Amino acid sequence: MKLLVIGTLAFDSVETPHDRRERAIGGSATYFAHAAASFGPVRVVGVVGTDFPEPALASFHARGIDTEGVEVVEGESFYWAARYEADWNTRHTLETRLNVFADFDPKVPESYRDAEFVFLANSEPKVQMKALDQCTKPKLVVADTMNLWIEHALDDLKALMKRVDGLVLNDEEARMLTGNSNLIQAAAQILEMGPNFVVLKKGEHGAFLVARDHRFAVPAYPVEEVIDPTGAGDAFAGGFMGHIAATGNADPATLRRAMLYGTVTASHSVQGFSVDELEKLDPRGIERRYADLHAFVAV
Ligand code: AMP
Repeated sequence: MKLLVIGTLAFDSVETPHDRRERAIGGSATYFAHAAASFGPVRVVGVVGTDFPEPALASFHARGIDTEGVEVVEGESFYWAARYEADWNTRHTLETRLNVFADFDPKVPESYRDAEFVFLANSEPKVQMKALDQCTKPKLVVADTMNLWIEHALDDLKALMKRVDGLVLNDEEARMLTGNSNLIQAAAQILEMGPNFVVLKKGEHGAFLVARDHRFAVPAYPVEEVIDPTGAGDAFAGGFMGHIAATGNADPATLRRAMLYGTVTASHSVQGFSVDELEKLDPRGIERRYADLHAFVAV
């Protein structure tokens, strides 16, 4: 499986209704890679500062995640701080410090360039585009984005959308991107902007897949205790892309199953801070919860 992700590797300070964690390991590429690693090898392109801890990189390697494409630059790593309200759904970003990411010029190593499955995790659209330009044989390109880029880099994001097969984003971002509060209409508008399918994540309410000729919906896996929702979207994308890359194609049946696998990896992610739970995941654990989720939605 030739799966490549480009995104952030970060320190996150997170405050939930019950607890808080300062400078935990996070970042869009970090969550994605740990979730996808249970499906096969993952290659990462990103940048960290000299403050990024060696054990975090070692934990990538232990899970078969290749970090040859992670540049280490003198300075501080990307830093993000957020607070969740009591409903767990409302999140306030308190601070985003790009740090070494501000001047990041992604270099996809020679050995990664033939990646067939490419995930452009949440990061500046210009950076996502530069990484994509260096991929020579992508079979499937999927991108993620967020409100910050919709507000500040909309033209770049629209240019990127013309070059991707799929876009994953949450309901609020879809409304913001299209100006349409009806999610089904918003999804149709997004398809007009370029992608062949869109995955709309609706937090604890699950996710929709809207493609040109088919639609699918999956509820969130009912976890008993959420510890930290941070990274759920990226962990969803990791399970989704991991399954597609391991299968080798993105036909409608594979996309549907990938929606379930994404739901499974996201549900594990929210059961701990940082990548604490994802680091422990293995294919058996994933298959067990996949079977549970399948039974949960079957008639
Ligand atoms: P999610 O909860 O799926 O939206 O992902 C949260 C993760 O994304 C955190 O680990 C952050 O470090 C990272 N993140 C937050 N803001 C950005 C941003 N503007 N660009 C890239 N990554 C970000």
